[in-house]
Amino acid sequence: MRILHSICSYFKLGDFYGGLLSSGRLLKYGSGMVFNGMTPFPFSVNFLITKNCNFNCEICSWKGCEDTDNNSSEDELRTDEIKRFIRELKVHKPLLHLGGGEPFMRKDIGEILVSIKDNGLRCIVTTNGFLLNEHLIDMLINLEVDGIIFSLYGWGERHDDMTGTKGSFEKTIDNLKLVLDKRRYYPRVYVSTVPIDYAEGEIHKLTGNLKALGIDGLKVEQLNYLSQEEYGKSLTARGPFDLRPRTLIKKGHMTIEESRRMMSMLRALSRTYDKFVFIKPDLSDNQLIDWYAGVPKRKRNCLFIAHSLFINYNGDIIPCQFFPQCRLGNIRKDQLRAVWNSGRYRELRKTINSISPLACARCCKN
Ligand code: SF4
Ligand code: SF4
Repeated sequence: MRILHSICSYFKLGDFYGGLLSSGRLLKYGSGMVFNGMTPFPFSVNFLITKNCNFNCEICSWKGCEDTDNNSSEDELRTDEIKRFIRELKVHKPLLHLGGGEPFMRKDIGEILVSIKDNGLRCIVTTNGFLLNEHLIDMLINLEVDGIIFSLYGWGERHDDMTGTKGSFEKTIDNLKLVLDKRRYYPRVYVSTVPIDYAEGEIHKLTGNLKALGIDGLKVEQLNYLSQEEYGKSLTARGPFDLRPRTLIKKGHMTIEESRRMMSMLRALSRTYDKFVFIKPDLSDNQLIDWYAGVPKRKRNCLFIAHSLFINYNGDIIPCQFFPQCRLGNIRKDQLRAVWNSGRYRELRKTINSISPLACARCCKN
């Protein structure tokens, strides 16, 4: 039943991305999870090509928490290593989702994108949009990169405050407009935000203005976080895998009052903008209050680890960005195909769904 619920939400996500995510294949992944933990080759590969970023966002799960990633002895992948991996993906044609850090921090980003397209792969890039320029935008358009997701945390100075970077709002919006002005059909342009303590009407202003500019949709991702206390607990309850979480650590939760305010703000947004806004995950009223003012009670079966995965900046194959220490292989030496249904990966799928780590409780991916 829970798997079915996850599948339904992915159908909605597929709808939102206008076909960039083919959610129809998900049934195969769901049945693999139920029977033996083996599943078809991932339909989405999330590639964190760098850990560097020019921003310092308050809500960043990379920068806003104690870094559990410091003990990695290996560095960022080289261009040739990335290209070799892209060639490996060519046969299976997953959707490649480039992120970071900030992907445009890499000097070789052009070469990487050319290689992705030369190998016939679909690709979405998530960016803070600050480092784009006319040359890069022309390249994204000419290569027909399938989608760009800009991150925005408010309209105007609020965004600058959130990113810790003065002028970031103006620059990002200028670049977003330039993409919209120049594109033919591709790239599809989305904005991603999180429901922070937006003032009355603020998120409506952001949504209305973005719609007027002509973007294709706004994704509102529930904030993935652990309270300080929950984080402490999750360091000891690991199971057989290294499931130390890397997620935003907040001092505490919202009050019930604040979470109710958040709930009515999101409800009003859905009513006004319908399919233009995708709330991920779209929680019931009670679930939403639990999410922000307590601990989500719902046991969250993870379908994500059956159909998608992350590659870290150093080549580590990890189930998702929240568990960077849970290394199942490394693309420098391993074929993803061999790792994906290895005994260890199948065991991990069972483990995650049986122990339900705290970090999974507020995960936007399910
Ligand atoms: S732009 Fe993204 S990666 Fe960079 S600091 Fe902000 S949230 Fe983190
Ligand atoms: S945090 Fe948990 S629920 Fe979310 S993708 Fe990772 S394993 Fe799945």
